[in-house]
Amino acid sequence: MHQFQICPVLIVAMICLTLCHSVMMETLPLCIGIQGMQESQGSPGKVGQKEAKEDSGAPFDMSRVLALEKQLAALQQSLTFYTNVLQFLGSICKDGNKTFITAGKTANFSSAKSECSLAGYQLSAPKTEAENMVMQRIVKKYDKDAWLAISDEKMEGTFVYLDDKPISYSNWNPGEPNGEHQAEDCVVMQTTGKWNDSICTEKGLVICET
Ligand code: CA
Repeated sequence: MHQFQICPVLIVAMICLTLCHSVMMETLPLCIGIQGMQESQGSPGKVGQKEAKEDSGAPFDMSRVLALEKQLAALQQSLTFYTNVLQFLGSICKDGNKTFITAGKTANFSSAKSECSLAGYQLSAPKTEAENMVMQRIVKKYDKDAWLAISDEKMEGTFVYLDDKPISYSNWNPGEPNGEHQAEDCVVMQTTGKWNDSICTEKGLVICET
């Protein structure tokens, strides 16, 4: 009688175990998958890469930094020295961000444009009174009229920059531009800092700007 009371309990327990096992078997792979994904997200590979990256750098070497700083200071000193030499010689003049440079050579307008372009610069065109004054220092130093990157070759009487935009600043001599003989399509700065339209095939001082 006692055995008959226990049996139903065992049967119920077995059914429960069977059902639980089925549920666990269905759920377990999903959990493993999630765990796997979670593990792959925080994968040892990534951690390993990070560690490898941290380890790959050379150890911090203060003496090397100090040596590089010393070299940089020496280079800056040299650069200042040579810039001062060029300024002293009148080959280079600065105004704010613009620098005017010359090698003292003369050329016609077309060649002047090419020479500046080949050097990585462009023919000068002062666009403010301050820039005009700075460029004038070089012109006075070399005592030669210097080409400006301005002409009216495309439309007589309309002076434009090399990119065809109308000029935004000018410092013409009184009576200029006079377009004498309708052949003066280019512009030079004279030692006075004033401008004159001149014949493009004549020679003028080449001053580039950067
Ligand atoms: Ca003229």
